[in-house]
Amino acid sequence: MRFVSALWELFLNALFPPVCASCKSEGDFLCARCLGSLAKRRIGRYSPRARAPEFASLAGVVYALDYAKNPQIRAAIQQFKYKFTEALAQPFAKLIAEKVGELGMVKGRRLILVPVPLHAKRLRERGFNQAEVIAHAIQTQWPHGLCEVQNLLVRPKETSQQAKLGRSERHQNLKDAFILNKKIVHKTASQNLYFVVDDVCTTGSTLDSCAKALREGGINPVYGLVIARSMARSK
Ligand SMILES: [Zn+2]
Repeated sequence: MRFVSALWELFLNALFPPVCASCKSEGDFLCARCLGSLAKRRIGRYSPRARAPEFASLAGVVYALDYAKNPQIRAAIQQFKYKFTEALAQPFAKLIAEKVGELGMVKGRRLILVPVPLHAKRLRERGFNQAEVIAHAIQTQWPHGLCEVQNLLVRPKETSQQAKLGRSERHQNLKDAFILNKKIVHKTASQNLYFVVDDVCTTGSTLDSCAKALREGGINPVYGLVIARSMARSK
């Protein structure tokens, strides 16, 4: 099956060569030049211990890029999410894994990546959960056995799309949107370090709401992990 799908991909690439989501040059979904030109976030003084005051349940958010400094990345993320360009997950995951690797707190720990779940209906419409695709791509960047993707959360309620809402509406929309996945028996361990994975973080409501559900299940602390943080924040 894998061979057939690899052949199919070759065939499609010949017909429709990948185009860089940023500069539109042919050859790759995000070309090496554009990847290299991204202004990566310097972690420097990041202190995960100091909980960001704007979050009720989340201990902090780790992100690789700022939208404001990298306007080109918005197009790439939207292409990944809405045009089913799964191949873009790899360069994104590489950026994220690099960032996580710079954190002192990950040393000797096992990363548990919890993708932000989609409601079943949205999943059917889109065909894949972009957060889950990113999480699995990050796992492949990490030493074997030290990173696991676990679908610990489900989204039973159909909520409005966050992107269309203002800041306070976002909070209300997501109130209790996520619950623990009863199909998974998860044993917490002190070695585990928990990250809720999503593509972007705007106000952090989605990640915070996920962290709340995990904490109710005895998992704490919980961090967010995203490709980019949007700086356009509505107050
Ligand atoms: Zn490019």
